[in-house]
Amino acid sequence: VPPHARMDPGGNVRVVVRVRAFLPREIERKADCLIRMDPRSQMTTLRAPNDSDPANTRARARKMIEDKSFTFDNSFWSHDTADEHYATQADVYDSLGEEFLDHNFEGYHTCIFAYGQTGSGKSYTMMGTAEKPGLIPRTCEDLFERIAAAQDETPNISYNVRVSYFEVYNEHVRDLLVPVVPNQPPYYLKIRESPTEGPYVKDLTEVPVRSINEILRHMRVGDASRTTASTKMNDTSSRSHAVFTIMLKQIHHDLDTDETTERSSRIRLVDLAGSERAKSTEATGARLREGSNINKSLTTLGRVIAALADPKASQPSTPRSKLLKRNGEKSSGGGGGGGMVPYRDSILTWLLKDSLGGNSKTAMIACIAPSDYEETLSTLRYADQAK
Ligand code: ADP
Repeated sequence: VPPHARMDPGGNVRVVVRVRAFLPREIERKADCLIRMDPRSQMTTLRAPNDSDPANTRARARKMIEDKSFTFDNSFWSHDTADEHYATQADVYDSLGEEFLDHNFEGYHTCIFAYGQTGSGKSYTMMGTAEKPGLIPRTCEDLFERIAAAQDETPNISYNVRVSYFEVYNEHVRDLLVPVVPNQPPYYLKIRESPTEGPYVKDLTEVPVRSINEILRHMRVGDASRTTASTKMNDTSSRSHAVFTIMLKQIHHDLDTDETTERSSRIRLVDLAGSERAKSTEATGARLREGSNINKSLTTLGRVIAALADPKASQPSTPRSKLLKRNGEKSSGGGGGGGMVPYRDSILTWLLKDSLGGNSKTAMIACIAPSDYEETLSTLRYADQAK
């Protein structure tokens, strides 16, 4: 089996781990790589820091001197380009993104989260760089290629693609496709609940798009908005959750019966807030509240995913499609998931309820830095409980 082979272990939740390369500052201080990955068993081992790396002084002082091993659905070794098991951006897409897009075309909602401390590779994995595009641009590219191919083969199916982009900061929702007005406080949107579609963000911008370049242009607007607000408020971007959503609608027109069937799926790609614990000395007042809100969202998300991964809680999955008679008759959409899943405990999970339930596929990518024992252990434990 090739190390990054696409694998579907069944169930609706996938948990994978990715370790990034050293950054120049880590090379400079001659940091030791604490991560080992076995590409055959998918086992990831965090080695105890026994060197003199100042980044791990605290861990050593707290006698964190044990090796810890965890097994996930996939492990991406993106640390050493020279290694034969090195996982490129394309490898990550091929083993996860592509399969999730298959599910979207079958009518499922999907959600991919990047979790990890600030600087662990979340946005590299989701967005990537111009030369090394990540999951979001690759998903968009593949999406429009598939639509172009399908339009030639099945001209009676038409496609409609829209995108939205918002961030959840301090339990508030901000539309990233609306430019920030200088010298104005950020404008937050309200959350409503529809009996058929579940929770949603009222007045959120949703733009129709016809090409990858259009999507990327909107993403850049959103990222600029995130950065502008972030500079004003002390780098909030690492402390907010960025939710990029692609809405895919497939409209099937049956020429014999003249009936129109519509299949809608939502593709959620989420760059979560940094998972690092607020350092007690810095956290006071607003910062402390913000920290506990981040923790609340991340803790709730962990509990929701753990509940969904538990076979007792998850429901059988069937793709959703609804028959739209020509008179526009609709059937209900509804969100999946068992009754004990604590969606309501944070804004993030509440809003993503439809993308996390029994009719949806969820993946968590735990991003880890190669030489930070404490934060990495906390990320691996979080990912482990989400399995
Ligand atoms: P985060 O979004 O978690 O704060 P970033 O994605 O910004 O972290 O990554 C931090 C730095 O590490 C960036 O300079 C990024 O280019 C680099 N990086 C992240 N992942 C990798 C990787 N797999 N290979 C090489 N460089 C990486």
